[in-house]
Amino acid sequence: MLYGKWRPRGFDEVAGQDHIVTTLRNALASGQVAHAYLFCGPRGTGKTTTARILARAVNCLNLQKGEPCNACEPCKAINRGNALDLIELDAASNRGIDDIKELRDKIAFAPSDLTRKVYLLDEVHMLTTPAFNALLKTLEEPPPHAIFILATTESHAVPATIISRCQRYDFRRLPNDALVGRLRHIAAEEGFAIPEQGLLQISIQSRGGARDAITMLEQVVARYGAAPSAEEVLEALGLVHDPRSETLAAAILEGELGSALDIARSVADDGVNIARFTRETIDVLREVLPQVLRDAPREDSPNRALAEAVLRGRKGPAPIVAAISELARADFRLDPGSPIPLEVACAAAILGPVGPVTHAPAPVAGGVATRPPAAGQTRGAANSGPRPDDRTLTTEERFLKDLYERAKLEDQKIAAKLNGSCEVISISDSLVEIGVFYEFHLTALENEGLPVLQRNAEAILGRPVVVKLKLSERQPGQQRAARSGHLVKTAVELGAKPVDKG
Ligand SMILES: [Zn+2]
Repeated sequence: MLYGKWRPRGFDEVAGQDHIVTTLRNALASGQVAHAYLFCGPRGTGKTTTARILARAVNCLNLQKGEPCNACEPCKAINRGNALDLIELDAASNRGIDDIKELRDKIAFAPSDLTRKVYLLDEVHMLTTPAFNALLKTLEEPPPHAIFILATTESHAVPATIISRCQRYDFRRLPNDALVGRLRHIAAEEGFAIPEQGLLQISIQSRGGARDAITMLEQVVARYGAAPSAEEVLEALGLVHDPRSETLAAAILEGELGSALDIARSVADDGVNIARFTRETIDVLREVLPQVLRDAPREDSPNRALAEAVLRGRKGPAPIVAAISELARADFRLDPGSPIPLEVACAAAILGPVGPVTHAPAPVAGGVATRPPAAGQTRGAANSGPRPDDRTLTTEERFLKDLYERAKLEDQKIAAKLNGSCEVISISDSLVEIGVFYEFHLTALENEGLPVLQRNAEAILGRPVVVKLKLSERQPGQQRAARSGHLVKTAVELGAKPVDKG
C-alpha cells in the first residue's frame, strides 16, 4: 500500500534516474514527443511509474516545464486508473500474436477521453516471435495519435528491429544514497522514526529497487511499529545472522583467546545485540557437536569446515561442550550492551573448565579483586581455581563493576577512568564515595563525569544518591598495573600470564 501511496507523481520525484527524467522533461517541454519509447532496467527501478508520468505528460492540458499538472481531467483520469486511452498490457500473460493483433485492430480508432492513446507494454521481451513481428508492423507505421511505451527487464531478449524503432532509456539500480533519501522522505512524511542505519540496510537489501525498498520499509513498520530500533530493522529483514559467530566459535575451539576477545569487542562496537550474537555462536557449536560425536562432518552443514577442523585436531567433543556451557552461562540481563559477559565466557571456555567457587575472600586492590597468579600455574591448574564469578566480589566491587559497565554505554572515556583506577570507599543510603587513584582522572571525572556516575549509581541502587569523588589515599604504586581491567583479572585468575606489550 505504501508503495502505491508514494508512487512518484511527477518526473522530479523519480529517485535516482535523473539522466532519464531530465531528458524526457526537456523534450516534452519543447513539444518533442516520440511515438515509441523503450524503458529497460531491473525491476522496481521506476519504469512503469515513469511510463505513467509520461502518459500524463503527453495528455496533460496544463503541462508545466515538462511536468504533468496532476490536476486536469486527463491527469486525474490516469491517476485514478480509469483513462480508457491508457492501455496497459502485461506481455508476460498476453504474449501471443492474437493479443497484438487485437491491439493493432483498435489502435486506428481515435482516442476517446485523452488526446493520445498510450500503449504501455510491460515485460515486452516475453512476446512470441509472431507477436513481435506484428508489433513491429505497428511500430513502423503508427497512427499519429498513438504512443508506445515498451518496458522490459531483459532488453537483450527484445529483437533489435524493435529496439531500433524506439527511443531507448536505461533505468539503473538506485544508488544507496538516493534510495536512503527517498526512504527518509517517506518515513518523515508518514511519521516513522527509522534509524539511518536501518534505512541503509533496507536500501542495501533492496539492491537498488525502490519498490522493494518501500515494501520492506512497510514490512518493518508493520512488524515493529513506527519507531523500530536498528536491530529490529535487521531482524525484520532477516539479517540477524552475523558470520562472526562462526569465527568466534572457531577461535574458542582453537584456543585463541586474543582472537575471541577481538571478535567480542568488534561485535559490541558495532552495536550488535551481544546476547543474540552469543546465542548464534552457541547455535554454531551445537550444530558442530553431533558431527564431532559421529566422527563425520555432514555434507550440507553450514559449519562443515569447523567440524572438519575439530575432527582433524582430535580434541573430541569436550571443548565444544565446555564452550557451549560457558557461553550459555553468560548473563546479559544486567547490561545488554556490554561485551564483558561474553568476554568472560570466552576466557573461561578457552583457559579451561572452572571449578567450584572458593570462599576465601579475595584481596582487594585497585577496586577489583585480585589474586596473584601462582608461580608456574598452568591451564590445567586453573581447573581448581576460583570461578570468575561476581560472587567473589564485595558489594563495593560489584557496584563499581556495574557502574563501569553502565557508564561504558553512555561515555567510553568516562568509563575508562573507572576501570582499574578507582575504588568505591563507601555506599550509604544517600551517599556513594569513590576514591580515584590519579589526580588527572579525578579532575576529568569531576568536570565531565559526575552526571553520568550519578545517574547510573541511582539506577543500580534504585534510590537517589549523591556521588562524591575524592583522591584515594592509596598510592597508585600500591595498585596493580594500570592495565589490570576486569578481563585481565579474570584471565589471571584462570592462570593466564599477562604479557607486557611495552
Ligand atoms: Zn494535467
